[in-house]
Amino acid sequence: MNDTQNYRMEILGCIGHPIDENPTAVMIAAAFNNLKLNHKYLMIDVDSSALADAITGVKAFKMLGLNVTVPHKVNVIKYLDELDPLASMIGAVNTIVNDHGRLIGYNTDGLGFLQALNVNGIDITGKDVVILGAGGAARAIAFSCLTNGIHKIHIINRSSERGLGLVKSIRSAGGLAEFLEFVPGIKIPNTNIIVNATEIGMYPSTEIPPIDFDCIYPGQIVCDVIINPPMTSFLRVAKSHGATIVDGLGMLVYQGARGIELWTGKYPSTNVMKESLLSCFETLN
Ligand code: NDP
Repeated sequence: MNDTQNYRMEILGCIGHPIDENPTAVMIAAAFNNLKLNHKYLMIDVDSSALADAITGVKAFKMLGLNVTVPHKVNVIKYLDELDPLASMIGAVNTIVNDHGRLIGYNTDGLGFLQALNVNGIDITGKDVVILGAGGAARAIAFSCLTNGIHKIHIINRSSERGLGLVKSIRSAGGLAEFLEFVPGIKIPNTNIIVNATEIGMYPSTEIPPIDFDCIYPGQIVCDVIINPPMTSFLRVAKSHGATIVDGLGMLVYQGARGIELWTGKYPSTNVMKESLLSCFETLN
């Protein structure tokens, strides 16, 4: 080894539980490889009881950063040194940057969603949106829409406590918001955009959110956050009603690309990331 060689790899990873079937590592590894970065990204199964130790380990191992997924997105906040304002508004973190020993929490999920719309030529300014769900993904989408010019947000959720809680937070942040309980056959309000931010339709299930599909009209924007399969039954039915559809793959890729930019200062090829995911789903399903 001469003076310029360095065999040490930068370590990054994704913590969650369960984590085995999460394809994020494939996408991030493809991006690092394409950027010619000698970085190693690991899928790390962390139980809730071990979360504090895991975060101590991030500092001890001098890891560049982490992605955080279910069930740690909210609980991890108390172990961080700083929180980005949007992550603070959302109340959840999906990306941690280790800035020389200071851990900073971000949430790039909503930005990923908006960028997926943007590359499809969709501008949310002044529009109304229906979000099915009130969990982490729904919160990220709602607050990112709110800070990017949406007019009104309708939250439809099975648990009214959680749905009303989100509506209250949106209103406190200065937004217009309404709540409807998610019941089978629900007629959804007439809006420009509908987003399924629930788990309904995730592989191997082929369930469809039980809404009244006569509410969907040609040209309406219908989105799904589900990544596997990218073409959910919900999107297929919406398309048959003439809607313009946006799948969850774009959101996953763009939230990940922003994470890589936060960690390395380099923006990766989103095409390379998307291709890697598609070939991985072909093998899985
Ligand atoms: P949470 O557990 O935080 O929230 C789940 C939401 O789905 C809740 O609103 C829950 O309602 C609702 N829900 C679940 N099952 C049903 C059902 N059978 N009927 C009605 N409502 C239901 O999960 P997340 O928000 O973190 O994740 C939601 C989905 O988003 C997942 O599939 C995840 O993979 C995906 N996701 C995709 C991302 C991407 O980049 N494409 C990024 C992040 C997440 P209730 O409150 O009543 O329980």
